[in-house]
This record gives sequence, structure tokens and C-alpha cells, in this order.
Amino acid sequence: MLIERIEIFHVAMPLIYPWRTAYGEDASIESLLIKVSSEDQYGWGEATPFAAPCYSPEWAAGIFSMVNQWLAPALVKQEIPSSEVLNQAMAMFKGNHFAKAAVDTAWWSLHSKLQEKPLYQTLGGTRNRVPVGADFGVMDSLDELVEAVGGAVDDGFPRVKLKFRPGWDLAMLEAVRSTFPELTIHIDCNSGYRLEDSSMFQEIDRFHLAMIEQPLQHDDVVDHAKLAQKIETPICLDESINSIDRARQAIEMQSCRWINVKPGRVGGLTQAVAIHDLCQDAGIPCWVGGMLESAVGASFCVALATLDNFTYPPDIFPSSRFYHRDLADPPLVLDTSSDVPHVVVSDDFRKVPEPLPEELEKCCVQRAVFE
Ligand code: MG
Repeated sequence: MLIERIEIFHVAMPLIYPWRTAYGEDASIESLLIKVSSEDQYGWGEATPFAAPCYSPEWAAGIFSMVNQWLAPALVKQEIPSSEVLNQAMAMFKGNHFAKAAVDTAWWSLHSKLQEKPLYQTLGGTRNRVPVGADFGVMDSLDELVEAVGGAVDDGFPRVKLKFRPGWDLAMLEAVRSTFPELTIHIDCNSGYRLEDSSMFQEIDRFHLAMIEQPLQHDDVVDHAKLAQKIETPICLDESINSIDRARQAIEMQSCRWINVKPGRVGGLTQAVAIHDLCQDAGIPCWVGGMLESAVGASFCVALATLDNFTYPPDIFPSSRFYHRDLADPPLVLDTSSDVPHVVVSDDFRKVPEPLPEELEKCCVQRAVFE
């Protein structure tokens, strides 16, 4: 396809309540939305590294600059027939995975429309129903958390993920595990610890968690391999896996037994599918994570999660969990009519979330157009 026009929107989407993790607190989610046009059609892409470079070295205003100054000028008026060609065209720019993901997801979105095929099938997905997990950040009290987890159990969520950081750690796990002895639970440390904390992770083995997500440095695979030797609980890498090469290295070094794949963090859907395939061949199961995207970005996570080797329920949330009104329509909704809450993926390639013009206007921080 000939890329005729690229529009870039840096937005700030206010949350209902702040999102607290090991690296801090976000009151709104800053995201990048991209509209790519070709052949009288268009596709929307999205990626959000959040407002500050605290989850990864990228941040929303930074990826706006990256696309505005480098990626969009390199791609507009170019013939981009495949995702491989797109990724080759962006490969001369080092790193900047979230910025590339915003462009890559827009390309896939447009490609699926031009193919008149739903995105999940275009990516190789086989299921149109994705059971999802429940996820809890740091709260004001343990009682509040235990009550919230109880709600998730009552609602039938198949697993619960708990954010874990100094001050919200072993006592928190004790409170949840003693109340829910059989529940599938894992923790996400968001790279808040170091190898010197190994003895604390050894203590965690007694809680029989499904996995410990990203305990150590955001860019590490070496110390994680050392920690894996000392504990029984499987390690899942998230932040560390930002490319197919890093995934291969982590698998070779036995740094992890699980990989969380986020389309934004790995540079888009092209790389996400490649990492999925690599892990499948290596016998490493994966699951999909999200970044509190609007329904546009969340729809890419859903489509990705339909692939075979995504075996653990993803972090995919209904729009109403975080937003009074999703920036995009239709919003993401959970189907709770059966035992396990899940997302039903539409088989209609036209039914994809798009930004609502008035919400896009309201949330827009800066924009740029290339044609
Ligand atoms: Mg994580």
C-alpha cells in the first residue's frame, strides 16, 4: 500500500482513579494515536509508554517527537506492501519500540481493512473468545485489596495479578493467599528489585504463585537467570523483552519460563507475533499485557491474544474500569454471561474501535499531519 497521509495525535486520557505501580502514579494515560491513510481507506494505531519514562526509557511526548521527526517523514509517500517492509524501513532508527508500535499497529489496522478480514485472523489467531484476568494495583489498605480480589473471584476471573513493591509486599501476599488458598495468583514487581533481594523471592515460593513478573532491572536478562536458579516460582519477563533478539537471549539463558508480550513494548504487532512464534517453538508459554490504552490500542491486545501460544489470561480490561468515557468507540466490554469473563472478538473487519472526534479533540495535547 502507498502511505498517502499520516496524522499523529498525542493525547492525555484522564483516569477515573490514579494507576499506582512500583514506579509511581499516573492520573491520566498519555498515549499516541496514529491515523494512516491509503487507497481511500485508513487505519488507526496506538501505543502508550505513559507520560514519564518510568515503565521504559520511552515516554508519550518523546514518541510523538520520534514519529513526527523521523518515522512519519521516512514513511509518507512510500510503498509499504508488507509489515516486513515497514519494519525494515523503521529498523535504521535504533530502539524507540513504542513509537514504532504506534505506526506498526496503524499499518496492520489498515491492512486488515484492505484485506477485508478481521485483524485477529490476519495475525494468525484462531479463537474469537479471549478469557481475561483481573489485575490490582497498590491500594490504600489490605482490607480494600482483599475485598477487591474477592469480587474478582466471585465474578469468575480465572487468575489475579497483584502489583508488588516495597511496603506492599509479603504482608500483602500473606493477606491475599490466606484468604484465597486455591486462587491462581501472580505478582508484578515492575523491575522494583535487585539480585540482592533474592532471599525475599525465596520466601515467596511458599505462596505458590503462578509466576513472578519482572522482579529485576527493566533491561536485564542476566540477573534474572541467576535469580531463576535460586527460586522455584517461575519468572515471567515483561519490561526486559523489547525485541525478538532479547526474547531469544532470555530463552537461551533460561532467564524466564513465561513471557508477557505487549504490542507497544516490542515495537508493534509484527514483532509481537514473531516473539509469540519463537516462544512457541521453544516451549515457552506467553500471555498478553496492556498499557491502559484506549479501546483502539486494547483491540490490538485482544487480536494478539487469540494466537495459540497465549495460554495465560491476558491483562485486558473493559473501558469502564479506568475511563468514564473511552476515547474510542465502540468501547471494550467484557462478556460476563458465562462462567469466565471474556472478550468476544468480532468477525466483522469493519467493527474496529476508532477515536470519537470530540473526545480526541478534548484529550489532544499536540498533533501533526504528513501528506
Ligand atoms: Mg508487567
